[in-house]
Amino acid sequence: MTAEHHGLAAEWRRHLHQIPGTEFEVAEAADFVARTCTDLGWEVTTGIGGSGLVASLTRGTNSRTIALRADMDGLSIEERTGVPYASKNHGAMHACGHDGHMAMVLGAASALAKDIAFDGTVHLIFQPAEEPGTGAEAMIADGLFDRFPTDEVYGLHNIPGLPAGEIHTRPGPLMAAEDNFEIRITGRGGHASAPPQRRRPPSVPTRSTPPAGRSPPVRTSPPTPARSPPASHSSAPARSPKAVRPTAARHRCTAATSTSTTRSSAPESTSSPLSSPHACPKGTDHDHDNCHLDRQQP
Ligand SMILES: [Zn+2]
Repeated sequence: MTAEHHGLAAEWRRHLHQIPGTEFEVAEAADFVARTCTDLGWEVTTGIGGSGLVASLTRGTNSRTIALRADMDGLSIEERTGVPYASKNHGAMHACGHDGHMAMVLGAASALAKDIAFDGTVHLIFQPAEEPGTGAEAMIADGLFDRFPTDEVYGLHNIPGLPAGEIHTRPGPLMAAEDNFEIRITGRGGHASAPPQRRRPPSVPTRSTPPAGRSPPVRTSPPTPARSPPASHSSAPARSPKAVRPTAARHRCTAATSTSTTRSSAPESTSSPLSSPHACPKGTDHDHDNCHLDRQQP
């Protein structure tokens, strides 16, 4: 990529950083990407699996086809970086770097459009909803690879901290699978100053899980070991007004695993009480039978 394409990609990245959406709500980014690709001479098809789009370019006679893929969604985070190109969309931020992914693929679109030696077909796939894990599935279900057959698909994810110009890869999986689940704990709430009414508050079991407002360290199974334990991340339990002991607490958790072995060792779907060990062993003063773990994603 020449300095010209590099400069354009940097400019596009900063523009895209200012207009983040989340999940499938990425219309601003999708419109910008579609417009840019059209201006560069690519044929654009929009509305695939919701807000997904594909830009295609064919040159010469070679029947080989490849695809380059980028994700378009940001995270539900309020940006407070203070950078001149900070998010203009309240409550959304490109904190995972998908703005960079789009800019890189647009940079490739710019370079390929001017490459007279290029012979074949390239599809650029821009997918929504990478974070919840449903965007690629939606595009494929909408006929992505029937409408745009391709021999190979290339994608990447940025990793902040690597020296510029380096690409790290290896055979096998690189990114962790994500399973989300929620732990709901119920008890008997009441006024904090009235002991008889707060005999079984749900905050009792939460003492062995992270205190409100503090998350545990995120542990991600390294890619290589086959028997790494599943990792989990919990959010704070439900909050309640001052001096009121709540009747329910909720933990939203993520199990991140990098092998099928570790993934299968994560708790199985259950609507039955959690098995031991868990955050609320029998004997603690709360309504243990109402502790449930709902696995939300297969
Ligand atoms: Zn990401």
